[in-house]
Amino acid sequence: MKQIRIAIDGPASSGKSTVAKIVANHLGYTYLDTGAMYRCATYLALKYHISLSQVDDLLKLIDQYPIAFGKAADGSQTVSLGGEDVTLAIRQNDVTNHVSAVSALAQVREKLVDEQRRIAADGAIIMDGRDIGTVVLPDAELKIFLVASVEERAERRFKENQAKGIAANFEQLKQEIAERDYKDSHREVSPLKPADDAITFDTTGVSIDGVVDFISEKAKKIIDMP
Ligand code: C5P
Repeated sequence: MKQIRIAIDGPASSGKSTVAKIVANHLGYTYLDTGAMYRCATYLALKYHISLSQVDDLLKLIDQYPIAFGKAADGSQTVSLGGEDVTLAIRQNDVTNHVSAVSALAQVREKLVDEQRRIAADGAIIMDGRDIGTVVLPDAELKIFLVASVEERAERRFKENQAKGIAANFEQLKQEIAERDYKDSHREVSPLKPADDAITFDTTGVSIDGVVDFISEKAKKIIDMP
């Protein structure tokens, strides 16, 4: 069967990772959460008090602490950094509020994009992020750009945070999401935007299953699966 690369991009909390994981399961594909990689870089910068002007030091730390994805007993994805389990730590507010600044650093992106392309080299992969369809995998066979209203995205993040035991205030979340979108879309290097050949899908008011079905159908057509 033909093996393809699927790029899913979109703003914060647009449902990318939730649906990408499910579609990856259905197709037996690898799922790569590129946002988690930028979060890991940010976690290292915060932990070792590296400022944005000390990029070389940050690059060394990224080499020193390799990022690895695993699976928890309940099937959910885990992230480790140099052997330390950072699954929850990289979702905390301090990382979330600094990640756009760290991910705007060209050298950090270069390093992580190299790694992302290495992981995607064998195909049969679904990657989600901000620049997958435009920069990381410009030849991906299927590119989806997911959007949703800020209100709905803040609601989703609010519920997610509550479930993970992360402190959350709805109005503040809404503001933070809007700010992160602005920074991610207006940075100089690889800004968040749909690729010319991406299919944009507005998930406002659409269930997870609805989005999963939409993407799965498009993928199956390309793969030639019944
Ligand atoms: O997807 P998630 O919200 O976890 O991503 C966290 C941050 O990582 C984004 O706000 C963005 O700044 C950065 N990111 C990026 N490029 C990607 C994925 C994420 O710049 N491909």
